[in-house]
Amino acid sequence: MKIHSNEKIKKLKDKVKGQIVLPDDSNYNEVREIWNAMIDRRPAAIVRCKDANDVSHAISYARENELEISIRGGGHNIAGSAVCDNGMMIDLSNMKTVKVDAQKKRAFVEPGATLGDFDKAVQAHGLATPVGINSTTGIAGLTLGGGFGWLTRKYGMTIDNLVSAEMVLADGRKIQVSKDENTDLFWAIRGGGGNFGVVTRFEFALHSVGPEILAGLIVFPVDQAKQVLIKYREFVKSAPEELNVWAILRKAPPLPFLSEKVHGKDIIVLAIFYAGDVQEGEKLIDPLRGFGDAYGEHIGVQPYAQWQQAFDPLLTPGARNYWKSHNLTELSDGVLDSIIEFAGKIPSPQCEIFVGLVLGAANRVASDAMAYGHRDAKFVMNVHGRWDEASQDETCIAWARSFFKASAPYASAGAYVNFMTEDESDRVAAAYGVNYPRLKQLKKKYDPGNIFHNNQNIRV
Ligand SMILES: Cc1cc2nc3c(=O)[nH]c(=O)nc-3n(C[C@H](O)[C@H](O)[C@H](O)COP(=O)(O)OP(=O)(O)OC[C@H]3O[C@@H](n4cnc5c(N)ncnc54)[C@H](O)[C@@H]3O)c2cc1C
Repeated sequence: MKIHSNEKIKKLKDKVKGQIVLPDDSNYNEVREIWNAMIDRRPAAIVRCKDANDVSHAISYARENELEISIRGGGHNIAGSAVCDNGMMIDLSNMKTVKVDAQKKRAFVEPGATLGDFDKAVQAHGLATPVGINSTTGIAGLTLGGGFGWLTRKYGMTIDNLVSAEMVLADGRKIQVSKDENTDLFWAIRGGGGNFGVVTRFEFALHSVGPEILAGLIVFPVDQAKQVLIKYREFVKSAPEELNVWAILRKAPPLPFLSEKVHGKDIIVLAIFYAGDVQEGEKLIDPLRGFGDAYGEHIGVQPYAQWQQAFDPLLTPGARNYWKSHNLTELSDGVLDSIIEFAGKIPSPQCEIFVGLVLGAANRVASDAMAYGHRDAKFVMNVHGRWDEASQDETCIAWARSFFKASAPYASAGAYVNFMTEDESDRVAAAYGVNYPRLKQLKKKYDPGNIFHNNQNIRV
């Protein structure tokens, strides 16, 4: 571990308003911990920033002392890039303020806010914008990689709703980016991740949503998966964009609406979300019940912010996680067979395959309009390996990798950077596709020393 003289650290302490946590401090282990328990790294110093000036001081200090930098928003990234060994972790998780201008339908969000913090603040005004499906995820990392969730069919990716941002650059300068200011950087951060600087404030456009929506689950036995998925594929082609349905294959958790006999059995779940008139929604979702002979269902009117937390109990921090992901332009017979084959070999009660539907507004944006370019993807499929014991690492990782390989022939080009693991750096160029050359140019312009490299790194 790099040693810092007390005097040097004191100089930084005198400058920043936030706390500096060092390895000897009692809260060090708690603060360096992130969502994926497979990642166990020990930074030399953690700067828990209070504002953009703190971020700027931390960057300058790290640069002057040749310390590696990692940036922590919500700490959810599966690759664990929020935390580094022996370097400086710039921890934004205490910068959580979400200000809402309800009249203008805008939210101003600090980078430590979770999706839960964001949804709570904007839903107080009956507003929302598309974000992910697990409320403890950080808004910062999610946005910078793209961001999609239940509202994406109707309102696009999270980045499609980003209006402006405040950033601190590699040289410590604070700037604004938007369609009118520093437009090249505004292009780059909408998908380019943390490669270009630290975002200290996001401005999002908001839409009227809920606050009550119709949502829930229908659970079928896995031996009906083929017919359910074939009917699902047809159904979503004409479903209105207010309606989103995702398919999840896993072992049945002990959900109260399922008989105890079903718990632990292999299942396929349709997760349903409708943000429109409830009666109309009831009519629209009714055909889904006929896709098979269901074990059970739980669907009802509920607050949007509550549905945004519905999957939290299955996605708690502290488990070991290894993910693989493909974009799909269609659910071909081949991919359905592959999904079903590997759903039959799920190695732990927490592993799952999910097929997220993004078909809609996200597909109507040009692929070079911003750094995120996968505008042809209609589905994002995630192989979510998740388990508790290190002894299961090999089996669960092997399962995820084998499924990823078997389903690769049916995937479209590219990948969603936010679902990539740390061993996928060879996929970065493919992930950005046509936008990669421009991203490389901008990386050279804004971070020539690549001080922001703990990410899915754009290398010059
Ligand atoms: C359980 C779970 C559910 C998920 N569900 C969804 C989903 O529904 N939809 C979806 O789109 N994604 C989803 N994701 C993926 C998620 O978008 C990424 O994991 C994302 O990186 C999380 O952001 P974070 O701020 O929590 O991550 P962190 O680990 O804190 O940060 C990840 C990286 O982002 C960069 N970064 C973070 N903050 C900043 C900043 N302020 N400035 C510059 N760079 C920064 C850094 O490079 C950092 O290493 C999910 C992830 C998990 C673990």
